[in-house]
Amino acid sequence: MNIHEYQAKQVLGGYGIPVSKGKVAFSAEEAVKVADEIGGSLWVVKAQIHAGGRGKAGGVILARSLDEVKAATSKILGKTLVTHQTGPKGQLVRKVYIEQGCDIDKEFYLSMIVNRQTESVSVMASQAGGVDIEEVAASMPEKIVTFSIDPVSGFQPFHGRKVAFALGLEAQAIKQMITMVAGLYQAFVKLDCSQIEINPLVLTTQGNLIALDAKVSFDDNGLIRHPDIEALRDTDEEDPAETQAHEYELSYVKLDGSIGCMVNGAGLAMATMDIIKLHGGEPANFLDVGGGATKEKVSAAFKLILADQNVKAILINIFGGIMRCDVIAEGIVAAAKEVHLSVPMVVRLQGTNGELGKKILKESTLKIISEDDLSQAAACVVKSIRGAA
Ligand code: GDP
Ligand code: MN
Repeated sequence: MNIHEYQAKQVLGGYGIPVSKGKVAFSAEEAVKVADEIGGSLWVVKAQIHAGGRGKAGGVILARSLDEVKAATSKILGKTLVTHQTGPKGQLVRKVYIEQGCDIDKEFYLSMIVNRQTESVSVMASQAGGVDIEEVAASMPEKIVTFSIDPVSGFQPFHGRKVAFALGLEAQAIKQMITMVAGLYQAFVKLDCSQIEINPLVLTTQGNLIALDAKVSFDDNGLIRHPDIEALRDTDEEDPAETQAHEYELSYVKLDGSIGCMVNGAGLAMATMDIIKLHGGEPANFLDVGGGATKEKVSAAFKLILADQNVKAILINIFGGIMRCDVIAEGIVAAAKEVHLSVPMVVRLQGTNGELGKKILKESTLKIISEDDLSQAAACVVKSIRGAA
């Protein structure tokens, strides 16, 4: 799960990460009021969407008076911001963050991620902050310093010094960096994060470090331990299909292909996607209905698949163990009655109550191709698209 910059700064502020004074606003009037409260003579008006690259897209504006705050907010609010991370459709801006401006001397990059290779949290730091780090990684990888923190001994001050020296910091900023890396690591572990990215992390002309931007992502599987974090969820920013899947506790990930998949079990779902690819097709999604899905859940899953305009055919692959094939069949029939099924559907039902499931499908008036062999089923669903095209 991702959260907004203003939420991330509040969360990280609680772990001692220095951030500028700021507050979220939902209208131009509110923005002026908030800016007045914050005080000073320089403010930054920032679009709050779950995507980076706002600066380049006009979503970050410096304001030198309350009038400018008002004008900047009016300009950003209600606008659909298209950045390199939003995709071409862009993202509607529903709120802005008003922050006290600061004088920047240098912009750095600092992040932590779960590194599956080292089975620990990795730190990445670079002097080339502010710009797209992907670009830095591609064109000048030597400008990025990276290392892992041993999960047993945890954070040690030398980790902070390593970052500080890599960034060429001096004096008080070195001490501040040690505190910052310690705080970030503590937040990362305690809150079950999957990523924390500070870009830019700035050194002000006064010689202080400030996290000027903050992107925090959480491991969905850890959210059950953090109701306060879960409460920060903003469904406006999420793919509606994924939000719906979340409601029905379905594991759904949208992909770019044209073959919708419904499978029980994550491993089988992966194998199904592989076998579709093997036969020359592209899966439209990953969807695991889980071990003990109800008719309603299956029905919801089926509608999710069909809501995707890219889906040109469906492959249902169920290996009934705890999951009963007749329940799956009933869910499919119920959902297909509600939504107009206009694409070919190949079903492979095996295992518990498999015959009963197939009978239910057969007796429905649905146009279904039944296959017992997975490879055959995949070949068949790929062929059904080719036939249509
Ligand atoms: P992003 O483009 O979505 O990553 O948004 P950021 O929060 O990183 O802001 C983009 C850029 O705006 C930063 O790299 C800074 O150069 C600039 N910026 C943000 N806040 C301030 C500020 O307080 N003062 C100044 N001078 N520039 C700022
Ligand atoms: Mn940024």
